[in-house]
Amino acid sequence: MTGPVPGATDAAHRLALLERTSPRELPRLGRRGADALAALGITSVLDLVLHYPRRYADRSATARIAELAEGVQASVVARVVAASLRRARSGRPFVEVELVDDDGGRLGCTFFNQTWRLRQLEPGAEVVVFGRVERFGRRLKMTNPRLDLVGAPHETRQTGRVVPIYPQSERAGVTSYQIARYVAEALAFAEAAGAFADPLSERRRAELGLVSRAEAFRSIHFPETLDASRSARRRLAFDELWRLQVALVLRRRALDAASRGIRHAVGADAPRGALVERFVASLPFPLTGAQTRVIAEVAADLARPVPMHRLLQGDVGAGKTVVALAALLYAVQGGHQGALMVPTEVLAEQHFLAARALLAGLDVPDARHLGGRRPVRPALLTSRTPAAERARLVAEARTGEVDLLVGTHALTTDDVAFASLGVVVIDEQHRFGVDQRAALREKGGGTAGGHDPDLLVMTATPIPRTAAMTVYGDLDLSVLDELPAGRAPVLTCWLDDPARHGEAWARVRAELEAGHQAYVVCPLVRAGGPLEEGAEDAEAEGGDAEDAGAEPAGAAAGGPDAAPRRARPLRAALEERARLATSDLSGWRLGLLHGQLPSAEKEATMAAFRAGELDVLVATTVVEVGVDVPNATVMVVEDADRFGIAQLHQLRGRVGRGGLASWCFLLSDRASAAASRRLAALVATSDGFELADVDLELRGEGTVLGTRQKGRNDLRLASLRRDRDLVVLARRLAEEIVDADPELVAHPRFREELRLFVGEEESAYLLRS
Ligand code: ADP
Ligand code: MG
Repeated sequence: MTGPVPGATDAAHRLALLERTSPRELPRLGRRGADALAALGITSVLDLVLHYPRRYADRSATARIAELAEGVQASVVARVVAASLRRARSGRPFVEVELVDDDGGRLGCTFFNQTWRLRQLEPGAEVVVFGRVERFGRRLKMTNPRLDLVGAPHETRQTGRVVPIYPQSERAGVTSYQIARYVAEALAFAEAAGAFADPLSERRRAELGLVSRAEAFRSIHFPETLDASRSARRRLAFDELWRLQVALVLRRRALDAASRGIRHAVGADAPRGALVERFVASLPFPLTGAQTRVIAEVAADLARPVPMHRLLQGDVGAGKTVVALAALLYAVQGGHQGALMVPTEVLAEQHFLAARALLAGLDVPDARHLGGRRPVRPALLTSRTPAAERARLVAEARTGEVDLLVGTHALTTDDVAFASLGVVVIDEQHRFGVDQRAALREKGGGTAGGHDPDLLVMTATPIPRTAAMTVYGDLDLSVLDELPAGRAPVLTCWLDDPARHGEAWARVRAELEAGHQAYVVCPLVRAGGPLEEGAEDAEAEGGDAEDAGAEPAGAAAGGPDAAPRRARPLRAALEERARLATSDLSGWRLGLLHGQLPSAEKEATMAAFRAGELDVLVATTVVEVGVDVPNATVMVVEDADRFGIAQLHQLRGRVGRGGLASWCFLLSDRASAAASRRLAALVATSDGFELADVDLELRGEGTVLGTRQKGRNDLRLASLRRDRDLVVLARRLAEEIVDADPELVAHPRFREELRLFVGEEESAYLLRS
C-alpha cells in the first residue's frame, strides 16, 4: 500500500512551484533566453524540465572522419567550416557544407531542397550529422544527412560524453546547446527547492524497479551513460502513465456514481420473453466459444444497476455484429429499445441490412397489434433519410414502435428521442469522439423516468490491450479472440512492380473460371475525385516524415524519406471498371459499387453480386465492412499503398469467408518506405492484433490517442508499445490508490499532480472538490 510519505503535505506543492516560476527568474537566463523559450511554448520552469531531449549524441559512439569507410552509416561530430548555395546543372539549388572534426578530418555534406540550412549552419557551429558515407575521389561526402546543431559558434564546449539533443526551432533561434544550458539552470533551481520530492515511496520504487524522480530528471537531460538515460525515461514514462490511469479510473468511478442504470431482464423471465435465446437459436450457425463468453459478459453487465461501459475488440470477421444484436435484444426483451451508431452512411445501411436479415422471424408481444404480437422492428436513420420518413421514424422511436434504431451521428440530433433507450452500441468507436458517445447516452434520460443506457463500444480495428487500457481506460474490455470455423487463410501477394500486375489478373480469371467471384478495390470513385467516404489516405498522414516536426515545414520534401512521385493518377472505380471490361477482365460481368450511388442501386448491385449474377465487384472502400459473399475468393486492391493497415486488413477480410482457398493482391507502383512496411506486414500476418501493433508503431501513438486533449498530460516519453509492462503497473497502482482513497485525501501529492497535469477543471470534476 502506498501510504502518505512522511512530509508529503509540505512537499505537495513543489512541482507546482515550478509551474508558478517563470524561466525569467532563473539566474543567467535573461530576457532573451526567456523569450526564445516562450517561442517554443515553454513559459514555466516546469515546462522547461519537461522539455526532454529528442535523442542523445553519444560522443564515444561517434566516428572520426578519418576512419569513415565508404557505404557505411555513421555519426560524426564536427564543426562547420563553410556553407554555400550552389546550383546543379538542372538548375536545382542545393546547399554544400564543409565540416571538419577535432582531428582535422574533412567531410562534405550536400543538402537538397533545404536552402534554409544556409542560415542555420554558420561557420564555427558544432553539429552532429548522421548519414551514409560516399566517396568522390579523395573527398568524403554525405547527401541529405540528418543533422543536429549542438552548439552555436564560439560557445563553450560541452563536457559530458553523452550530449542531449533537444528539439530545435529555427523560428525561436535557439540551439540545442542553449536549451541544455537553460535546462541545467532549471534543474539546479528545482533541486534546491526540493521540487522533485517523490510521490512514490522508496519501497514502491524498489518494487517497480524505478529510479527516484530527482535522479530521473537529472539523467533524462544529462545522463552519464545511455543506460542512465534509459532508466530515467522509464521512471518519467511511468509517471505519465499513472497520472493518466488515475484520471481514467477516477473518471470511470465518477461516471458510475453519477449514472442511474437499468437492471435489464436478461433471463427467461424477461417481460417480453427470452428474445436473445430465441435469436441465438435462430442463427444459421452455432456461436463461437468467444461469442458465447462475451455475450455472457455483456449480460452480466446489463443485469447490474450500474450502466455497462464496455469495449468489444474483435478481429475482422470474428462476428461482432451478432454480439451487438444480442446486447440490443436484451434491451428489447425487457421492454426497452436499442440504438446502433456507426460512423458512415454506407456502414449504417450495411448494418441495417444485416440486422434485418438476422432478426427476421423474431417477434415480441405488443397489445397494440392484431394477434397481440409483432415482428421485432429495426429501422435505419441517417442524414440521407428523406424528411417525411425521418419524421415518421422519430415519432415511432418515441412511442416505442421501433425496437432498434440503426444510424449515423444523425441519431444524436436533438429531435431524436426514445420511449426508453436501454442499450447503445457504437461500432468503430475510433471515429467518434467522446462527446458523441455522451450525446447518445443522454438520450436515455428523455423519457421513462430518466436512466442512462448501457453502452457497448466495438472497434473494427483492434488495438493492443495496453493501448486499449489507455485510450479506452474508462471502459471494461471484452475480446472476441476466435474466428468462426471454416475460415480459410487468405494468401496475400504484394506486387510492387507494375510489370507483375498481370499475375493478379491471371489469378482473378482463373478463379472466375472456377465459378468463384472477385473484388477489385480502388481508392477513388472517379478520376481526379476525392477519396471515398470513410477512406483514410495513409500517405497523407505523413507517416514517412520522421522527425519532421524538428525542422521547418517543407524541409522533408524531396529528402530521402519523401514518398516517391507517382507516375499516373490514382485508380478510380468508374474508370477502372471500364478499363477492365475491355482488357484484363473482358467478357466477365463487372458490377460497380461506391458510396455516391443511390441506396437502391447499391442494394441492387450487392444483391446481384450475392446471387452470382455479377462475377466481379469493382468498388471503393464501401466493401470494407459488412459485405459477406462466401463465394468471393480473390481481391485485388489497386494503389494499395494509399490505404492504411487497418483498412487493408478489413478489405482482405471480405475474402476467405467460404472455406475456399483465397487470394488478396496488393498492387502498388512504387511504395514509399512507410507504405512498404505496411504492405509487408499485411503479407506477413493475418492477425488483426499483430497488425494493430505494427500500425501503432508506424503511425505513432498520437493517432491512437487521437481525441485526447493536448497538454501536459500528453504521453511524451511513454510508449504504449514499448512500455506495456509500465501501462499494466500504472493501471494497478491507480486502481489500488483510488480504491483505497477515492478522493485522494491521503495522497496530496497525487492529487496535486493530477491538477497540474490533467488540468484544474477536470481534476476538480474527478475529485468532486
Ligand atoms: P465483424 O466482427 O468483422 O463485424 P461480422 O459480425 O460481420 O464480423 O461477421 C462476419 C461473418 O461471420 C458474418 O457473415 C456473420 O454472419 C458470420 N458469423 C458470425 N458469427 C458466426 C459464427 N459463430 N459461425 C459462423 N459464422 C458466423
Ligand atoms: Mg462489423
